[in-house]
Amino acid sequence: MFEVESDDRDAERTIKFHFTAQSAFHDLPVKGTDSDDEGSVWWSVTGRPVFDGFDNFCGFRGSGTDLTERRRNAERASRLAMFDSLTGLANRHSLSQKLSQLLTHRDPRQRECAILMLDLDRFKHVNDTFGHPTGDALLVQVARRLEKVVGHLGVVGRLGGDEFKVIIPRACPTDRLQQLAGDIIHAISQPYSVDGKRLVIGVSVGIAQALEHGTCSERLIRSADLALYAAKDAGRGRFRVFSHDLHAAAQERNQLEEELRHAVEHGSLQLHYQPVVDTVSEQISGFEALLRWKHPTQGWISPEKFIPVAEDAGLIVAIGEWAIRRACTDLARWPESVRCAVNVSPLQFSDPSLPDMIARSVAKAGIKPSRLELEITESVFIDNGEDTDATFAALKKVGVRLALDDFGTGYSSLGYLKNAPFDKIKIDQGFVRGATLPGSRNGAIIAAISSLADALGMDTTAEGVETLDELDLIRRHGCSHIQGYIYSKPLSPEDADARLEQGLAIEPTGPRMSREPRRSMLRKVVMQHADDFYTATVRNMSSQGALVEGLWNVPEGTRFRIALSERLAVDAEVRWCEENRVGVRFDERLQRDHRGQFELAFPANDPVSRDETQHTRRTA
Ligand code: C2E
Ligand code: CA
Ligand code: CA
Repeated sequence: MFEVESDDRDAERTIKFHFTAQSAFHDLPVKGTDSDDEGSVWWSVTGRPVFDGFDNFCGFRGSGTDLTERRRNAERASRLAMFDSLTGLANRHSLSQKLSQLLTHRDPRQRECAILMLDLDRFKHVNDTFGHPTGDALLVQVARRLEKVVGHLGVVGRLGGDEFKVIIPRACPTDRLQQLAGDIIHAISQPYSVDGKRLVIGVSVGIAQALEHGTCSERLIRSADLALYAAKDAGRGRFRVFSHDLHAAAQERNQLEEELRHAVEHGSLQLHYQPVVDTVSEQISGFEALLRWKHPTQGWISPEKFIPVAEDAGLIVAIGEWAIRRACTDLARWPESVRCAVNVSPLQFSDPSLPDMIARSVAKAGIKPSRLELEITESVFIDNGEDTDATFAALKKVGVRLALDDFGTGYSSLGYLKNAPFDKIKIDQGFVRGATLPGSRNGAIIAAISSLADALGMDTTAEGVETLDELDLIRRHGCSHIQGYIYSKPLSPEDADARLEQGLAIEPTGPRMSREPRRSMLRKVVMQHADDFYTATVRNMSSQGALVEGLWNVPEGTRFRIALSERLAVDAEVRWCEENRVGVRFDERLQRDHRGQFELAFPANDPVSRDETQHTRRTA
């Protein structure tokens, strides 16, 4: 017998109503419990009352259709509509539903919530290298780790691809959110094992809080996206809380991208060449080619600023190709013993047509391939892809030399050196810089790297040697080559030609002592934010930033133009603020001139920045 036990209140009421009223009914869905079956079953029933010849009610007669399968399918479909089928996490649709429910809550206090936008770093590489099944298996593991870290604090969902989102459905202090983001980054960055393969990825996180950073979903999501973008920009594997000037920064960046595109199309990038000197013979053994861009209004822009833009905008392959062709052409003019190194971005390195392109450029210029050296950073190994090995083999076949750049800044695994066919290791200037300070162990490390390289038949270049003391130390520790301001700054192609005309011998010129990287000082400066001017005191300054006293409660990310002296103004961003002290980072690195005074690394001879400095002074 079929017992009516609907959980659909309306249907139940209706069928009971029809039973009592003895009236006909059509296609009523009812849930029943089948005594043989543990699960519930659904029927659609149609019936009409039956009366005997004396109009006595005898019961109902009718038919039913089993709805159970259809119901289950519908449930499955609605699950599918709400959950991501790969990871079982909430999907984009249900996340956005959840968020708009929160943000439109009747009680404004209940609208407070936060979102964390996550984007995996290097996932694409795993997918490209090992295939989609591996990528999928990895995403499932990422999902489990996220659920574990976030726990009851919030809802984790996947937006698609390698993008995830966490919704914290209540007010949560910023430092708690930052802690959560830190925990997420830590958990996701631990190695994974998929089909016996060891994989390492990272994650960047952008955080936005309602109502402060947006009161509607659209705005809040955009804020979190911008924060995520800034986190990636700062070097990936980081988190960033939204701040209002990110909107302005995003616009600025879009504009920079447009202008860079234009510069590439109109050939307005340049390559400058910094001499690399043989330690023993003190002769120029070659150059490193360094990109230069003179922006129409901003003057010289550092490659550290525009190369990440070029990478994001997909321009780096074209720029890199141009640099290689240009370097080959210039090499053809120079003496046979002179080499040239060109920096290769990891994105460019993973372009399968790179070896062919290089072979063509070398052949066209008619130079020996061994005169061209490619500088590659450790990041090309991070995923330890098989492609990397294949590219190395192809490049060696072309006959170019390979240098491991920036050694000592990243993972610095000596393992890379054993397996990859490098001809040279470039020791990062950070190592050199600290080496002459009392108590530094950098010297011992430099000595160890040099002797290891020597044993493996590789050269070593110490980068960024600025003082005679550093030069002495490098010579003592056995690096085979030296590059730095002590010999020469990067030269325009014309100046490089002129330098070579004088012969290969070169002499060091520069200060004897390395100064403390940060010096204590007191200097009054004028800081400009939009149309407002403030005076403040610089307590401490290095080439990259300063500690400024006299401004209260400045939000992180606030941008200032700081007039450091009569002839020097820099753009800077606030990184932190405590009471009346702020730490600012300069957009462009400063360097010291021969008297130890700071100057712009690319002295701006464009009138724009000078005008602005004067304006700042006048108004203040
Ligand atoms: P990098 O490969 O480490 O290049 C060395 C940087 O150190 C250059 O900065 C150079 O001007 C600077 N330098 C050299 N000697 C000294 C010194 O004695 N003291 C100090 N303080 N700095 C010194 P630059 O030209 O600003 O380039 C920055 C980075 O931009 C390069 O770092 C490289 O990673 C990237 N880059 C430059 N040109 C290219 C390129 O053509 N392609 C790619 N993918 N990246 C490039
Ligand atoms: Ca380099
Ligand atoms: Ca370097």
